[in-house]
Amino acid sequence: MKRGHVETSMQEKLDQLIEEHRHWTKKGAVATYIPELSKQDPDLLGISICEVDGTQWQAGDWQAPFTIQSISKVAYFTCVLLDNDFEELTKKISVSPTADGFNSIVNLETKNEHKPLNAMINSGAIAGISLVKGATIEDKFQRIFRMICDMAGNEALKVNEAVYLSEKRTGDRNRALAYFMKGTGIITVDVEELLDAYFRLCSIEVNCRDIAIMAATLANEGVSPVTGKTLFDPKTARIVKGVMTTCGLYDGSGEFAVDVGMPGKSGVGGGIMTVSPRLLGIGVMGPALDAKGNSLGGWKLLQSLSEEWDLNIF
Ligand code: GLU
Repeated sequence: MKRGHVETSMQEKLDQLIEEHRHWTKKGAVATYIPELSKQDPDLLGISICEVDGTQWQAGDWQAPFTIQSISKVAYFTCVLLDNDFEELTKKISVSPTADGFNSIVNLETKNEHKPLNAMINSGAIAGISLVKGATIEDKFQRIFRMICDMAGNEALKVNEAVYLSEKRTGDRNRALAYFMKGTGIITVDVEELLDAYFRLCSIEVNCRDIAIMAATLANEGVSPVTGKTLFDPKTARIVKGVMTTCGLYDGSGEFAVDVGMPGKSGVGGGIMTVSPRLLGIGVMGPALDAKGNSLGGWKLLQSLSEEWDLNIF
């Protein structure tokens, strides 16, 4: 840690923060619109930190598995940026924030030449998968899956079949988004196959350490702090972090920028990752969510850490 003050030891501080913030988990609720997610334990709260030199810290329920959900969108967007010319890409997906929910349909019709507002909401992510290199949708899935494993420095990641099947069975909002985009020409591939890839990517099982290392890879401008592999270039990392800052917490992104002040990305499985550029990545998990779908305990934990360690980039 080079920025801010660390008064007690890092481990003691993290243990203490978890205990101080556990009560927030009682004020949120697990996601139920994907039936399998309703089985999650709402009381869990965990954190991992990975510094850009690879040093790691963990506390609370950091080992508890959860599905990555929308945090995977960071990896799709990274691949989309690597595989497409940026100017061409912005003709299909914007980089604008939204004041509507992550699965909102309204903007696709009323705004923005029918294109998704950004790659961090469902419409932009689903369209984004179709723009990743690969002869088939399975190849596109594999490219993004590989990127997630590489960013997490974890070869053992796998899809949680029960969550995947639950999402596939109930994902009609996402079907509506994707068919609308097929109708307007933003998507040109088979919708059901594309959604199948999207549901599988959302259902990858991770823990706090995996997402902390993913975030640390972004903090380290594309070089994994654990494997030393160069996965992408600093310019790509910069664009991803920019869009995370304005769009990563859905319609809560503005409040998150004020409260926490770090590029972040949340998922309805209860994870949030944040990036402290050139310093560290943080992964938190707490499946009890606020009304906008962000982990309530995770948010509060990040807010305290950001204040105490002066991590707010603004
Ligand atoms: N698989 C979830 C969905 O499509 C992802 C939502 C999220 O984490 O924001 O609804």
